[in-house]
Order: sequence, then structure tokens, then C-alpha cells
Amino acid sequence: MPFSHFGLGKDILRAIQKAGYLRPTPVQAAAIPKVMQGHDLIAIAQTGTGKTAAFVLPMLERISQANLNQQPRGTKALILAPTRELALQIMENIRTYGNGLPIRVAAIFGGVEEAAQIKAVNRGVDMIVATPGRLIDLLERQKVDFSMLETLVLDEADRMLHMGFLPDIETIVADLPKRRQTLMFSATLSKAIESLARKFLYQPKMVQI
Ligand code: AMP
Repeated sequence: MPFSHFGLGKDILRAIQKAGYLRPTPVQAAAIPKVMQGHDLIAIAQTGTGKTAAFVLPMLERISQANLNQQPRGTKALILAPTRELALQIMENIRTYGNGLPIRVAAIFGGVEEAAQIKAVNRGVDMIVATPGRLIDLLERQKVDFSMLETLVLDEADRMLHMGFLPDIETIVADLPKRRQTLMFSATLSKAIESLARKFLYQPKMVQI
């Protein structure tokens, strides 16, 4: 199925074309329609399979449409990732695919001054990409507001579990609206991942590449 069959807007299709992508990768072909339909999703896919675009493209489509239709703005999407490098890479991808769209994104991660990150969030952001530890700091000090959140992504969930982020993830999720779409990406399917899915996902679809 070509990218043009997913119901993505022309700006996103242009950005994909500009990135040189000729056709969806298997994880994109399997996941994008399910995400566009609003389902929760568990996707078992390695890094390098194109998994980032599989969740970013549908989110960009939904949020940019809402913004163009002048719907109330707020942080609609949160993407949790295990490392600063991955968070930055996801933000770069969002900027690439969302080039020209009315979308603001900020990254929140530890190891750097938080003032600039707080300032970015205060300007108003549609999407936040974060590592769990620093996000908890900002949540506890009420520097971020997730009352408008619609989509949560747990990227490289198995790595986040291995790094001991489960308590942080639980604290963060407790602060999010119960009615939301939750997408979980993991390189491996384990008992721990299944248990995480049971806790945070609602009737998820499953994609395994
Ligand atoms: P990811 O698994 O999301 O880290 O993506 C791995 C690499 O594949 C990145 O460099 C992407 O730019 C690239 N990529 C993602 N989707 C496609 C596609 N449909 N066609 C070609 N390259 C892609």
C-alpha cells in the first residue's frame, strides 16, 4: 500500500517524498492504518525498521488537522523514550515529517539545563518527546500540563524497562487522561512487556514484524 492510501494530508505526503521514501516499510504498512483508526497498539519492531514514522505520521496528521480547524490547543501527544539521543532523534523526525505544518514540539531530557526546556514548553507545544526522569521533575513542579493529552507513545519500551524506568512511567501515566490512545513499541516481546501492555493499553492491536 503506498503512502497516499493512508489518508495523510498533502503536506505530510510531500515531506515523506522529500525525505526520499518510496514506499512504507512493513511496520509502517501494518501500523499506520491502525493508529489512524485510533486503536491502541503494540508493535514489536527493531530500530531501523521505520517505526518512528509509524507513530509520528498519524499523530502529525491528527494534530495538524485539529490546529487548522482552530480546535483548542494544548499538548496532545507525549512520546517517552529511554535516552536523550533517541528523544532528539524522534524530535528531528517530527520536524522533518511535519515541515510546514502548524505543529510545535519540544524535547525534555536530563543532563542539560532545564531552563531552556521549560521555556520551550511554556511557549505552548503540541507534542513533547521526553525521557522519563526529567519529565517527572517538571511534572512534580507543574511545569507541564497533560490535561489535553490524546496520545501516549512508549518507544523502545523494553529498553525503558531494562533501564529501570517502570516506576517513573507509572507516575507519569497516572497524570495523563484515562481516555487516550496508547502506542507501545518494543524490539522484543516479553512477559514484562505484556504486563506493561495490560496495564496501560486498552484492547490493543498487535503488529509484529
Ligand atoms: P527508525 O526505525 O524509525 O529509526 O528509522 C530508520 C531509518 O529508516 C531512518 O533513517 C528513516 O529515515 C528511514 N525510513 C523510515 N521510513 C522509511 C521509508 N518508508 N522508506 C525509506 N526509509 C525510511
